[in-house]
Amino acid sequence: MNKVKAFLLAAAMVLSLAACSAQQPETARETIYQVALLQSLTQGYYDGIIKVSDLKKHGDTGIGTFEGVNGEMIVLDGKVYQALGDGSVQVADDNETIPFSNVTFFDKDLSATLAQTNDINSLKETLTKTVSDNGKNLFYMVKITGEFKKMNVRSELKQEKPYKSLDKALATDQREFNYENIKGTIVALYCPDYMGGLNTPGWHFHFISEDKTKGGHILELAFDSAQAEFDATQGFDMVLSENNEFQGMELSKDVSDAIKKVETNEK
Ligand SMILES: [Zn+2]
Repeated sequence: MNKVKAFLLAAAMVLSLAACSAQQPETARETIYQVALLQSLTQGYYDGIIKVSDLKKHGDTGIGTFEGVNGEMIVLDGKVYQALGDGSVQVADDNETIPFSNVTFFDKDLSATLAQTNDINSLKETLTKTVSDNGKNLFYMVKITGEFKKMNVRSELKQEKPYKSLDKALATDQREFNYENIKGTIVALYCPDYMGGLNTPGWHFHFISEDKTKGGHILELAFDSAQAEFDATQGFDMVLSENNEFQGMELSKDVSDAIKKVETNEK
C-alpha cells in the first residue's frame, strides 16, 4: 500500500469512527427493543431469553412479562417492576429472565392533556388520533399520568412446564384487580399496522400505581383528565432464542384471535 492510500484509508476510518460516536447514542435511544414475538409468547414459549439486567441496557420504559409469565412487567424511569398474580408489585431481580418485552429509552416528542375518558376504547381513539397526525407508521411509547377513577388490571400466576398456550393459561390463572381513584402511570406501546406478524398492531397498556404497590395489564379504565407524553420511535430491534424448542415453533401461524383474547379479555 502506498502512502497516499494508507493516509486515505486512515482518514476514512477516523471519519467512520467519528460518525459512529456521533450517531450511536441517538440511534440506540430511538429504538424499540423487542424480546421475541408476541406470537411466541401466545403459543406458550415462556422461557426467558434475556436477563432483566440486560433488558435495562436497551431501555428505561416499556412493558413485558417474565419467565413462566410470572407477572406483568412495567418498566418506568429505568426500573423494572413485576406486578404478580397475587396483586403485589416488586422490583424485578436483575437475574430474572424475560420471554417477551418491548422497551425504549424515553425521550418526549409530544405531549397532550387528555380530557375525560370513560373506557379503554375511547382512550385508544384519542391516542390514535395523535399518532395519525404525527405519523402512524412509527412506533410510540406513551406515558400517561394521572388519577384514574377506574383502573381494572390483570396479572397471572406463574406457569410450570409443560407450558400451555397463553389463552389456556389465562383461562384458569388470570387474576383481576379493580381499583378506584388510584394515582399512577400507564405505560403504553403503539405498534404500526404492519407489525401483525411480530407483535400486535395498535395499543397495549400496562399500569403501575404512584406508590408502586399495584399494577398489571390494563383491561378497562376511566379518568377525568390525564397527561400523556409520546416518544415517537423510528428504530426497531429484536432478539430471538437459539433454543431448539423456539426454533421448532411455527411463528407465522395466525394466532391473532388468541392475541385479541389475551389482550382484551374478549371471549
Ligand atoms: Zn400486557
